[in-house]
Amino acid sequence: MSENLFTYDLTNRIITDNSFRDYAPENAIKYSLGQIFVNFINYDFSFYDSERKKLDKLLKQIDYIYYRNSNLDESLRSVFPCVQDKYYELSHGDSMGAIVEYLLDIPHIIPYCNSTMFTDYKQFAEHQALDFVFLQNEIKKYVFCLDMDCQPEITSLQKYVSTEDLSFSMHDGILQKEKTIIRHKYSWEEHVNYEIETYANTVPFIPNSEPDSSVLTLGIENNPNWRNTEIEIIHGYVFETPKEALQCEFLKMLELGIKIRKCTVCGKYFIVTGHNGNCCDNLYKDTGLTCQQVFADRNYKNKRKQNPILKEYDKAYKRMYARYSNKKNLASDEYTKWKNEAARERDKALEAYTKNPSEAVINNFKQFLHNK
Ligand SMILES: [Zn+2]
Repeated sequence: MSENLFTYDLTNRIITDNSFRDYAPENAIKYSLGQIFVNFINYDFSFYDSERKKLDKLLKQIDYIYYRNSNLDESLRSVFPCVQDKYYELSHGDSMGAIVEYLLDIPHIIPYCNSTMFTDYKQFAEHQALDFVFLQNEIKKYVFCLDMDCQPEITSLQKYVSTEDLSFSMHDGILQKEKTIIRHKYSWEEHVNYEIETYANTVPFIPNSEPDSSVLTLGIENNPNWRNTEIEIIHGYVFETPKEALQCEFLKMLELGIKIRKCTVCGKYFIVTGHNGNCCDNLYKDTGLTCQQVFADRNYKNKRKQNPILKEYDKAYKRMYARYSNKKNLASDEYTKWKNEAARERDKALEAYTKNPSEAVINNFKQFLHNK
């Protein structure tokens, strides 16, 4: 079982998940620091939770310890008919392994929640390490520290110290396990390519004969390439539970002063980067617009509704446009003439209304537009 290894680059604000970088270089996945934490807070774990509860219930009935002696396979397949062959394949036909892969694959966008941290089925029980709804609630106390709209008069660090009730004592703190790896910068992918280039088709193909097993024993030892490559040092943290990983990321966010805020449009948290205001830049529902665009659009419409001159203008504009687009009772040149005149009058009225916001200005403009 491979361990996850996460590097936190505070200078560039990047998290690298190094877990599979020996397979192929692109497998070192990079995240913006804070993003995994925020994704975890925003994630809707309700489907995962209903599946987790099914497993917990089943294992309680059988008894966690004696599950190997029971006809567990049958029960698992009937409770989880959705677990397809791919999970049985991943787990080499082990039903429990397949269920674990399946469950932890549900929130797969959060790399801290995966089977490499898995050690014990009891972790799926209520309030245990893989009860993500419970964990999400626990982690939310940290949101208070990072949220710039919660007690903005004090800093994130001040909020943290007060919620954790910390003093000047050196006894408190969070322990983390760091791991250092020193390796040749070479990947399994490169090795496999080397094997193909070097050994493919070197043995003549004889139909109906036993395959030559000596060809299959050519390991990395027989590959001269990897020893000549650069040697790299990787430092990273190893976590036993998703909670440890989230705590670690939180502490880095706290240290760097990374702040978050609840988007006024979609209600999800986002990282404040300085130039964005009240909303995130994720797409909002199926509008095809980002929350920022939806917000700007709403503001624009509200402003127009609040200004009586623009309100009257919009009313007349809609009416004239309907007449013109029906092509029945308004010719194109007439429509253009009206538009230009109306725009001129609108600007005059706007100016007058700003100087003196009176009913008379509105009524004059209404009369000009023939509005009721
Ligand atoms: Zn949003």
